Amino acid sequence: IYLLCRNFPCRQLSHLVHISSPCFTGANGIRLTMESALTARDRVGVQDFVLLENFTSEAAFIENLRKRFKENLIYTYIGSVLVSVNPYKELEIYSKQNMERYRGVSFYEVSPHLYAIADNSYRSLRTERKDQCILISGESGAGKTEATKKILQYYAVTCPASQQVETVKDRLLQSNPVLEAFGNAKTLRNDNSSRFGKYMDVQFDYRGAPVGGHILNYLLEKSRVVHQNHGERNFHIFYQLLEGGEEDLLRRLGLEKNPQQYHYLCCSVIAPIYSHSINDKNDWKIVRRALSVISFKDNEVEDLLSIVASVLHLGNVQFAADEQGNAQVTTENQIKYLARLLAVEGSVLRDALIHKKIIAKGEELISPLNLEQAAYARDALAKAIYGRTFSWLVNKVNKSLAYEFPGWRSTTVLGLLDIYGFEVFQHNSFEQFCINYCNEKLQQLFIELTLKSEQEEYEAEGIAWEPVQYFNNKIICDLVEEKFKGIISILDEECLRPGDATDTTFLEKLEETVKNHPHFLTHKLADQKTRKSLGREEFRLLHYAGEVTYSVAGFLDKNNDLLFRNLKETMCNSENPIINQCFDRTELTDKKRPETAATQFKNSLSKLMEILMSKEPSYIRCIKPNDAKQADRFDEVLIRHQVKYLGLMENLRVRRAGFAYRRKYEVFLQRYKSLCPETWPTWDGRPHDGVAVLVKHLGYKQEEYKMGRTKIFIRFPKTLFATEDALEVR
Ligand code: ADP
Ligand code: MG
Repeated sequence: IYLLCRNFPCRQLSHLVHISSPCFTGANGIRLTMESALTARDRVGVQDFVLLENFTSEAAFIENLRKRFKENLIYTYIGSVLVSVNPYKELEIYSKQNMERYRGVSFYEVSPHLYAIADNSYRSLRTERKDQCILISGESGAGKTEATKKILQYYAVTCPASQQVETVKDRLLQSNPVLEAFGNAKTLRNDNSSRFGKYMDVQFDYRGAPVGGHILNYLLEKSRVVHQNHGERNFHIFYQLLEGGEEDLLRRLGLEKNPQQYHYLCCSVIAPIYSHSINDKNDWKIVRRALSVISFKDNEVEDLLSIVASVLHLGNVQFAADEQGNAQVTTENQIKYLARLLAVEGSVLRDALIHKKIIAKGEELISPLNLEQAAYARDALAKAIYGRTFSWLVNKVNKSLAYEFPGWRSTTVLGLLDIYGFEVFQHNSFEQFCINYCNEKLQQLFIELTLKSEQEEYEAEGIAWEPVQYFNNKIICDLVEEKFKGIISILDEECLRPGDATDTTFLEKLEETVKNHPHFLTHKLADQKTRKSLGREEFRLLHYAGEVTYSVAGFLDKNNDLLFRNLKETMCNSENPIINQCFDRTELTDKKRPETAATQFKNSLSKLMEILMSKEPSYIRCIKPNDAKQADRFDEVLIRHQVKYLGLMENLRVRRAGFAYRRKYEVFLQRYKSLCPETWPTWDGRPHDGVAVLVKHLGYKQEEYKMGRTKIFIRFPKTLFATEDALEVR
């Protein structure tokens, strides 16, 4: 009533409530008392960190997050960046009604939400016809994938529709369960952890309707196919097939319902394979339906599932040593199934699994493998088959999403990046090295783009740009990727070097080449004190987000990602159409060595950066509140780490280095005009002049604000708070 009495039209009412006490913008917005209005800011914190009085204090930052989290306010801004804390419970903020509330509404008029970011990007895309991208980052389990899905749903609901568009919307949404079945797995951190990076473009036509899409995938964690850590699972699809597959189908695939039968599924037998949050049987139905939506024909589904089954059979192939110590296959039954499922000659496959073929000086040399080598070859084949099938699947999804370009109509693109966040484990290996390198690149992009856009806004508004001091992490990117002397170059060099190259020689080369780099350290290079914390097989990188110690064990192997030639040949001859497309004959004749895993990753990242650079970015930074996947638990230590790794304090500092608050003259005047007799109840002149009169009346000092072309810029939040308080006590 207090608010209504002020005679604000509805929109302003929500605006007012929003700034001083965002919790009131919900359904209970009207049940507001004078007292609660005044204490609201204390209770639920500020909805934009930029308004924090003590903006350099990490403690104040976290306290604000905590207050809001407690009130189920999981979203908070840093300027235009959205910070999101995973609630681990269903909140009633994703309804169609709520989507409508965010449609076409200015960013600051409603409480912070994914939908505000989604809508804002969409509107820029429509009005400025500029390609957009939304970059979502955060550690595993922080809510990136959920955010991506919710944004897609938002567009599916709010964008214009037609018959053809409905099909595309369906496919965009249904591509998710399929890719998640093959690319996600239960890990200790997340029951539905994406084990690949994903960038998805949605194309919009001239009416703003989604008409097509395209997905790029990054670095699938293939090693999971053959081994999982204690308490984790293999990719979902294996369990879904066994749990949900019809009897007939399973019989054709030679599979039994029990996952414990399969070596690749029972590495962590003791740990529960099933979890209450996962329903494989139901998910199977969803995936099966989704496959039809993305235009899989029945025979293609059968080919695809044959491959899934073949991986399980491969895992059960066993070897025994003969008198010479050479490996022999002891599980004929598996070979029989494999031959059928992969559509290859059984005897050829058996031979290929226990021999190695090398071509030296034009001559073929065939040598037998010992037990260890045969097991290695088998696992390498399983990983290759699965990894390539996954890429094939992404391709197939892309074909079904492809937009038939009609020539005279142009499209605009909105990209969604859901990619692994910075990772620091007890034990860090090649995978973490790649992932953290990726995060360095994204940070680099973030710095360039945020600073650039700040600068551009100042210039557009005719306000002098004051340079901001910040840490530029280019030096770390160079350390990893520079030609000849970067870590990846040195790794590749060791991988190519014939003879005695090992992980240890790689480490030695590294020490020689980058020894004086301020962001690189090894046991040998460290001083007495730090040396204790570093093993002899480790190197440490000082990332922008903190230091990470990597163990070099397995670096060469993972980077080489070798599949013995005769296994490749066998797969090239497969009559399973998918396998046949995955293994191309040119690989056998190509003299050039295939690119190493790290170089491939580096190149695909560099392409990704180009794509992102060409678009206008928005950011969503996701935070995981606790390690127990539980609701209402705010683990401060864990969150402090993430605030640091996500660079949020730095982000806030950059944003605050200039002007904390900026608003269009019209908006500012409308909100505060009641505070000055000259502007109340109406101001007939230009809004610019009205604001000038208003702030003069309020006693703003010269250093506190600047007048741009279309906006007022206020340097300190306390200036704004004082004005807000004036409104409230009036
Ligand atoms: P990430 O992709 O960052 O690893 P996910 O998006 O898969 O994390 O989220 C992990 C889990 O957290 C989800 O399976 C879901 O249970 C929960 N979760 C994430 N975001 C939300 C949300 N906005 N509301 C409710 N639960 C969520
Ligand atoms: Mg994910």
